[in-house]
Amino acid sequence: MDASPGKQDIVVIGAGIVGIAIAALLSEVGRKVLVIDRQGICEGASSGNAGALAFSDILPMASKGVIAKVPGWLADPLGPFTIRPSYLPKLTPWLYRFWRASRADLLAKTTLAQGAMMRLAEPEMLDLMQRAGIRDMVREDGSLELYESEEELGASLPGWEARKQAGIAFEHLRGEALADCQPGLAGQFVVGTFVPGWKTVSDPQRVGEGLWAYANRLGATFLQAEVRFITPSAGGAAVRLANGQHIETAKLIVAAGAWSHRLAKDLGDTIPLETERGYNTTLPVGAFDLKRQLIFSGHGFVVTPLETGVRIGGAVELGGLDLPPNYKRSQAMLTKAKKFMPALETAGGKQWMGYRPSLPDSLPVIGYARTNKNVLYAFGHGHLGLTQAAATGRLISDLISGKEPPISIDPFHPQRF
Ligand SMILES: Cc1cc2nc3c(=O)[nH]c(=O)nc-3n(C[C@H](O)[C@H](O)[C@H](O)COP(=O)(O)OP(=O)(O)OC[C@H]3O[C@@H](n4cnc5c(N)ncnc54)[C@H](O)[C@@H]3O)c2cc1C
Repeated sequence: MDASPGKQDIVVIGAGIVGIAIAALLSEVGRKVLVIDRQGICEGASSGNAGALAFSDILPMASKGVIAKVPGWLADPLGPFTIRPSYLPKLTPWLYRFWRASRADLLAKTTLAQGAMMRLAEPEMLDLMQRAGIRDMVREDGSLELYESEEELGASLPGWEARKQAGIAFEHLRGEALADCQPGLAGQFVVGTFVPGWKTVSDPQRVGEGLWAYANRLGATFLQAEVRFITPSAGGAAVRLANGQHIETAKLIVAAGAWSHRLAKDLGDTIPLETERGYNTTLPVGAFDLKRQLIFSGHGFVVTPLETGVRIGGAVELGGLDLPPNYKRSQAMLTKAKKFMPALETAGGKQWMGYRPSLPDSLPVIGYARTNKNVLYAFGHGHLGLTQAAATGRLISDLISGKEPPISIDPFHPQRF
């Protein structure tokens, strides 16, 4: 369908990896897409993340023994999971929902939904990268999750069992096999779980730029501007920009990451989106001879080999969208990494903070606005936005094209809370 004069066909708010993937998938089926972002292409959370295509990561955050560990972590102000005290009052309803999401029956349902999403995500992402000419940006050397004791591994076994049920291959390594998988680790790591199917990318921002270049070749265009609010309009929707400009569109997609709930509110949707702020440091190329991504889950961070450097980070800080970053967190993870990988060269790093957009049940929001079926939401991918971007693009493209999506979108319903 062509847009009528003065009216866009499809507007996507957000040029993060999710908005970019949506733009690419819709452009492939001949739709005219305008992407609007107040920053440039792929400059938000999608630019500096850990680069994992974590297709086997099907367990919700609330399940990974996280709830039990939270009190201990909270005692450490630079630990893996913290709450900025001044933000706690605002956060309480989200925390309550997060805690509720850990109920066994809900966890089982969420894990099934996440499993279905991941089975879609893998072929969608790899095929999209292939069509975009950037398939060589995928590294296929698996991941290694490290444990400091057999007890720590034991506590994680139910999670591994759930992955086994979902058909995910892994192997627990000890002794020489562990040392071969990643030489140079401190002796305190006695077990490591190797997941051969885990993939990473050469650099998440380069992937975003590569997918955008593809969408752009197919006709998608970009406007750098801040969207102030969205309104319904005859046969579509409209956005009002900070510069006063008004843009009408037949279909509007909100893919504005951690800020999306503010726009959804304009259409009467109250969505409990929070941000899990994450931190890292990217060291120069060659800072450590990494064989694959290392996951120190007991300490809440990962180490990723990128073509642009060695990236060390993770952590969750619940502190909303407005408080300034606390880069002592990046430093704290770097200091631990040096202890765990003694040959790590820690000089010359670049610190970063990003806003993960997170729902309490760890599932994204994908579906229609309550009062306007011409507005679709695609946000809230939490720790998995890079991994699930193309699958989200497929679901949104099918919904807009009037096709039956390949998986049920019910678990991602915007009004499920
Ligand atoms: C430390 C860290 C590590 C991570 N590691 C991984 C990983 O290994 N694998 C993985 O899959 N995921 C990972 N993630 C999560 C992943 O980065 C996010 O889920 C993903 O980037 C979200 O993409 P997005 O497009 O929804 O949001 P964003 O990338 O944040 O994009 C949203 C865009 O919307 C724009 N915007 C918002 N409001 C407006 C407005 N009103 N007007 C105009 N523009 C607006 C913003 O400027 C922004 O560019 C990690 C995140 C962090 C922080």
